[in-house]
Amino acid sequence: MYDICIIGGGVAGLMLAHSLPSSMSIAVLTKEDPFTSNTALAQGGIAVSLAPDDSPSIHAIDTMHATAHHAHIERVELLVHEGKTIVEKLMSKGLPFDINSNGFPNLGQEAAHTQRRILHAGGDQTGKMLLHYLLSQTQDKVTRLPFHAVLELNITEGRCTGVLVSDGHGHRHNIHAKHVVLATGGIGQLFSQTSNSSVASGDGLSLAYHAGAILEDLEFVQFHPTIFSINGKSCGLISEAVRGEGAFLVNQDGVRVMKDVHPLLELAPRDIVARVIEWHWQKNDPVYLDARHIHRFEQKFPSIYANCLSYGINPLYELLPVRPGAHFHMGGVQTNDVGETSIPQLYAIGEIASTGVHGANRLASNSLLEGLVFAERLANRLRENIIRNGLNHEIPFEKEVIYNNQTTMQLRMTEQVGIIRQGSGLIDFITDFPIHFVRLSDYTNQEIQHIHRYTSSSLIAKSASLRTESRGGHYRQDYPTSSNEWTGKVIEQSIHGVAISTREIENKETIK
Ligand SMILES: Cc1cc2nc3c(=O)[nH]c(=O)nc-3n(C[C@H](O)[C@H](O)[C@H](O)COP(=O)(O)OP(=O)(O)OC[C@H]3O[C@@H](n4cnc5c(N)ncnc54)[C@H](O)[C@@H]3O)c2cc1C
Repeated sequence: MYDICIIGGGVAGLMLAHSLPSSMSIAVLTKEDPFTSNTALAQGGIAVSLAPDDSPSIHAIDTMHATAHHAHIERVELLVHEGKTIVEKLMSKGLPFDINSNGFPNLGQEAAHTQRRILHAGGDQTGKMLLHYLLSQTQDKVTRLPFHAVLELNITEGRCTGVLVSDGHGHRHNIHAKHVVLATGGIGQLFSQTSNSSVASGDGLSLAYHAGAILEDLEFVQFHPTIFSINGKSCGLISEAVRGEGAFLVNQDGVRVMKDVHPLLELAPRDIVARVIEWHWQKNDPVYLDARHIHRFEQKFPSIYANCLSYGINPLYELLPVRPGAHFHMGGVQTNDVGETSIPQLYAIGEIASTGVHGANRLASNSLLEGLVFAERLANRLRENIIRNGLNHEIPFEKEVIYNNQTTMQLRMTEQVGIIRQGSGLIDFITDFPIHFVRLSDYTNQEIQHIHRYTSSSLIAKSASLRTESRGGHYRQDYPTSSNEWTGKVIEQSIHGVAISTREIENKETIK
């Protein structure tokens, strides 16, 4: 029996382990090796208001604007204030952020930030550096269980009491724990086009759903405009910085696709650029990034240059095929401000959690920060070792469900639940892939992996079908504008069905 069982070893899971006292017994489970995660891929950095002319309040205002008036104002306040303190603490303890010749952190600027506030480590390797730092800090205090895929959450008398896992040999075990934490990351792999790592297949959503937890804001997925895409396969991210250096987006005839669409051309807001590129692809008109004229490309973007060469395309002489792909999930398992879910002894942090700080659209570089802040908040909660009573839910499992074949599911997610959505496509999707509630342990390991992808995809499609407006990352061609009726409304799903709640959203007077 462990005190704490953490499912996931990215920034959220490891920061939690780091912040917990060594007197607690802690297990950290990862589906693959400890280095495979979205955290390891994070290039941009961590947003934090360190510059003399910046402040947490300005950071909060930028965040609220980016989130399309859907973020939870009080949680955003926690994020920007506590985030600053945590990052300063990590810096003082030796996390090697990049500094300038005066010894001050080198702060970069990103879209929708009004100030320079992006901290980097190792240039474009911030996530990897953070991961290595947290791994080294936690190596003596946790039991690491790599290649342990969680199949099901064990619920006893309405409380989470442990997990059922499959180890690297496919053998099943139960791991018992007083507290179980979902830190399973994102959902990009549910789509055929994505920037995400192989482990970001939305397992946490399905695990939480089958345990009876409430999920929310699932329709809000952020799509990155320029995923390097070869023969329909995602081959890595080509960061916005390349367009910032002057790269053009062109179609196969060399025509700039952003011309006449937006005055900022290639530097228009991310969602607009992404939709334009996707429209062209859907008309069988592939879109390319033309970076051939960028001076010293190979020195400015060494990782991107090396990645392109590894796929046989040289950015100095050739066009780079790009297509939007799923990048970040704003929604997830509903939590309070210390990471508690609706199920006692089950918690969620990091990208799998819906804390409300990202609203309908994440502000760039706020997600590593969220992982750090809410992991530390949860650690403080877990120190109190409170055991809450659960309620038995009497929903019967469905029997002998045959799940539809998954081979087309990722493609259908991209086409029907992707960056451009239509009511008819969403209804088609949820008709072909209805949500089922089953006892997971009745199925084989392989079937459960399939059920996780299936269920998480269906839940996202269902929420997208219900939100009859466009907001942030959720764009409906049949409802192309935001509607006052939906302002502040949150779609919740659980085994009990759908509920709509209201969130305390932007109120400028309350921003301190
Ligand atoms: C290409 C890219 C660039 C990005 N750049 C930035 C950036 O510059 N700044 C920023 O703030 N954010 C960035 N993000 C987003 C950010 O990286 C993620 O939101 C964040 O790292 C998520 O951390 P996490 O700990 O929640 O999940 P992850 O780091 O993805 O970790 C998930 C963990 O859960 C484990 N897991 C999953 N399912 C199971 C299961 N069933 N059983 C056991 N273990 C399981 C995995 O093995 C993994 O260890 C970027 C994302 C991508 C993809």
